Amino acid sequence: MGPRLPSIVVLLLAVGFASADTIVLKNGRRIVAENVTEDSTHVIYQTSFGQTSLPKSIVARVEHDDLVDRSTSSAAAEPPVSAPALEPVGGYEEVTARAVHDNAVDYAYIAQLEADARSGGAIAVAKLSAAHHAAAQFLASKGDTDAAIEQYRQALVFAPENLGLLANLGVLYLRESRFTAALDPLEHAQRLAPDSADVAKLMGWAYYGANKTEEAIEEWKRAERLGADPEIEQALAKAERDRSEEETYREGETAHFDLKYYGGARPELARDILRALEEDFRDLESQLDYTPPDSISVILYTRQTFADITRAPGWVGALNDGRLRIPVQGLEQVTPEVAHVLKHELTHSFIGQKSHYRAPTWLQEGVAQWMEGRRSTADAAALVNRAAQGTLPSWGTLEGSWMGFSGEEGAFAYAWSLAVVESIVEAGGITDISRLVDEITSAPSTEVALKQTLHLSYDDLRQQTVAYLKRAYLR
Ligand SMILES: [Zn+2]
Repeated sequence: MGPRLPSIVVLLLAVGFASADTIVLKNGRRIVAENVTEDSTHVIYQTSFGQTSLPKSIVARVEHDDLVDRSTSSAAAEPPVSAPALEPVGGYEEVTARAVHDNAVDYAYIAQLEADARSGGAIAVAKLSAAHHAAAQFLASKGDTDAAIEQYRQALVFAPENLGLLANLGVLYLRESRFTAALDPLEHAQRLAPDSADVAKLMGWAYYGANKTEEAIEEWKRAERLGADPEIEQALAKAERDRSEEETYREGETAHFDLKYYGGARPELARDILRALEEDFRDLESQLDYTPPDSISVILYTRQTFADITRAPGWVGALNDGRLRIPVQGLEQVTPEVAHVLKHELTHSFIGQKSHYRAPTWLQEGVAQWMEGRRSTADAAALVNRAAQGTLPSWGTLEGSWMGFSGEEGAFAYAWSLAVVESIVEAGGITDISRLVDEITSAPSTEVALKQTLHLSYDDLRQQTVAYLKRAYLR
C-alpha cells in the first residue's frame, strides 16, 4: 500500500450555510423560498401559491437566511461523506501560530515566507505551505471560501505536488458544490497517490455531486478496498440506490411523464430533465389548478435545434399537440437556460390541455413566459412606445398562428403577450388566468371569455396593460 494520509475527520463541514433561504438543487438551480422544512423524503417550502415540495434526491443543500442553529436541518444539506483532515505538512506549529493570530491572517508574515521560498529550499516551501494552509482553514471557518481557495492556489505555485494542498483545495470546491472545479486538483492528487483512500473518497463526492453516479460508485468502491470507514459504506449504498432509480428513468417512466429519446442523450441527463419536469409539474398543477389527465410525452432530440428557445416564430402548431420536444444537443446537464425552457414548454402542455387546445397564441405564450420567470423589464419602454404610436399587433393576429411573423414581429408578439399576462396577474392573481383558460373551453370567443371572467374587452385589456407597464417599470 502506498502513502497513507492521516485521516482525522474534522469539523470543516460543520460551519453551516448561513445566507438567504435558498434551496440549491444538484443541477445548480436555486429556488428562493420561505418556510423551508423537511421530512424524511422531501424538502417542503411555501410559494405565493401554496405549499410545494421537492424530493431530497435532487436537492444539494438548503441555505437558510438566519443564523439560528437548525437541528431539524438536514439530510439534504449534508454532503455524502465528510472531509478527511489532510495536513499538507506536519511539525510547523510555530509557523501556523504566526500565520494566524489575534483572529486574523498575518499576510505580511506569509509574504515574508514567500520571499524565502522563492529563493530557496524545501524547508522554506514547507513553511510557506503550512502557513497558507493555516490561513486557508481560518478563512474557510469565517465563511470566506474564495479567499481560502486563493491561499491554496498560492501555495500550489511553490508546491504543485503537495497532496494535502491539492486535497484541501478540492474540499473547498466540494463545499461550494463546484464539483467540476474540485475534480481538477483531486485528479492531480490521485495521480500522485493512487492508493489514497481519502482522495478516492473525495473523488467519489465530486462525481456524486456532479450527478455522475457510476463514477462515484467506482471511486467509493476503490476507497473501500483501500481501507476506509463506515461512512463510505453508507455513501456507496445510497449511490447504488440512486443508480437503480436511474435505471427506471432510462426506461422513461415517472408519475406524469413518458420519455422518449433519440441518439445519445446521457441517461443522467434524461433523469435530471424528468426530475426538473416533475418539480415544474407540481408547481403548475397548483398555480393553474389543473392536473393533465394523461401522462405527457417528452421527446429529447439530440440533433435538432429548437425554435422556441430563441423565440423564433417557426414552432407554433408543432407544440400544441401537448408533447414536449426538448433539444439536448451537446448538453451535459440541466442548465438554468434549459430549466427555463422546460418550464415554458410544460406550461404550454398545461394550457393546451386545460383549454382543450383553444387558448389563443398570445395567452399561451404570455403564460409560458410568465411561468418560466420572464418579466417585461427590458421591453416595457418599447411596448409603451408602440402602443402610443398605435402600432401594436391586432388581437386577431395575436390569437392565431404566429408562423407568418417576421423575426422582429415574432419577438414583439412574445414581449407584448408577456406584458398582457403580467397585467392580468397583477390585477387579479394567477387564478384569473386559470379562470380565463377554463372559460375559453366553452365561450364562443376569447374576447367573450375575457368579458365573462375579467369583465374586460380587448380594448380594456390593452389599456390595462399599458397602464401597468408605465406603473411597474417606467416611473
Ligand atoms: Zn412558447
